[in-house]
Formats: sequence, C-alpha cells, structure tokens
Amino acid sequence: MATYKQEAVVLRAYDLGEADRILTMITATRGLRRAVAKGVKRTKSKFGGRLEPFTHLDAVLHEGRNLDTVVQVEIIRSHEPVRADYAKFLFGEAMLEMIEKSLHEYQIIPRLFDALRVTLDVLEGDVCEPALLLAAFEFKVCSLIGYHPHLDCCLHCGRKIEGEKVCLDLAGGGIVCSRCLPGVENRQNVSDDCLSLIRCLLHEDMATISCRSEDPRICREVLTAAFRFSESFLDRPLKSRQVVMGYLERGIP
Ligand SMILES: [Zn+2]
Repeated sequence: MATYKQEAVVLRAYDLGEADRILTMITATRGLRRAVAKGVKRTKSKFGGRLEPFTHLDAVLHEGRNLDTVVQVEIIRSHEPVRADYAKFLFGEAMLEMIEKSLHEYQIIPRLFDALRVTLDVLEGDVCEPALLLAAFEFKVCSLIGYHPHLDCCLHCGRKIEGEKVCLDLAGGGIVCSRCLPGVENRQNVSDDCLSLIRCLLHEDMATISCRSEDPRICREVLTAAFRFSESFLDRPLKSRQVVMGYLERGIP
C-alpha cells in the first residue's frame, strides 16, 4: 500500500478509543477519504489538537484497505474564525454536509475540493448574507455533480418564461411555466426575485456573492430552494436544513 501526499479539508472528526481520531476528508485529487490519526489526543502528539472539521491541511497519508493512516500533517488554514462564530459555524457545517453527501468514498469529482476550499476562505472573512453564500454553494455543487439547474426555459414545453408564476420542478431539475405547472408533483414555488437571484448566484464567484446585500426574506427563499433542490438530487435529507432555516427564522422579525 502506497504513501501519498494530498491537500485536504476535514469534513468530520470523531474520537476512537483513548488516543486516536477518525477523520473524513475531501482530498484535492483523491476524492473522499477516511483516515485514522493515531495518538492525536496525547499531550505530546505530533499533530497537536488541530485536526478539527474545516481545517485545510497538507497531509501525508498511508493508504489502507478500509482506512488510511495520517503520517504527517501541516495546517494550511485552520479556519478558526468559522468555528468561533455561531452563524458561520452553522452555515459552514451545512457546506461540509453537502460535500460529504455528494460523494461516495473514493469517488472523484473535479473542482469539488476547490469549490469548498474557496468558499470556506470567503466564509472566514466578512460576509453580508451567509445564507446566499450557502445557497450558491449548494447550487454550484449540484452543478458540479451533474445536476445543473435549468433556469432559462420551461423544462416541459421549452417556452421562454417571462413575468409569470413559475416553480422549480425538483425531480426534473429546472423551472416550469404556469401552463405546465399543474402536472408537476415534486415542486417548489419561486418568486421572480428569487429566480433572478439564483441565476446570478450560479454565475458569480463566491467573493462577489459575499458582498451582496439582499432582503433577508429573499435570502431565505433562495436558500429554501437550494436545500430542496439539493435534497432532491442527493436523494436524501440534509440535516443542516432544519438547523439553518430555524436559525434564519428566529433572526427575522
Ligand atoms: Zn411549460
């Protein structure tokens, strides 16, 4: 079994026995990997106490049959400001969950690692509306894994949609016009403003999105659409949806 060097971001970490820790990571070019960091909890551990979720690291790993072993680690960015801020932590956790649920072990999707790395770097700084950053992240991840939302024409009749009631067909992956709408079972209604904003988010980079200031209600609507769209394509619920939406609802008067 080979030893390899990879940049990675820790998605999840839990203790194993007295001294070890199991990490789930997304690596730069080797997809999702699980690895054990031995002796990490001892006071004199060579890793220190640094292998927490969000940590972006450069690691040397030894390949194992079921589980790799962490040989050496260098921290590139600890993302401590994300862990230290309650709201950022919630939004960040939702991003980690999105990545973990988008990939099977060893599955490699080009650009997914970079998407997370860049978004966490942005989340660490000043962000006007973290809900928009998360919504953009979810739509972009869907797009990277092969479910790009179709938002230009009606998915069913191909008609260009302008100034009318539309909905997102969650099973089909795009918008549906008012005429075709009655036939769609699994759907999410979206307002005009919400739809325009989703279109912008799909084209803008994360640094630009972090400076966007929008009405909190629209942010909430966009994020709800992003969660529902993602859940439909991942074919499983996202635990973070309830937590994040609960937090946003409490924050809006
Ligand atoms: Zn139609």
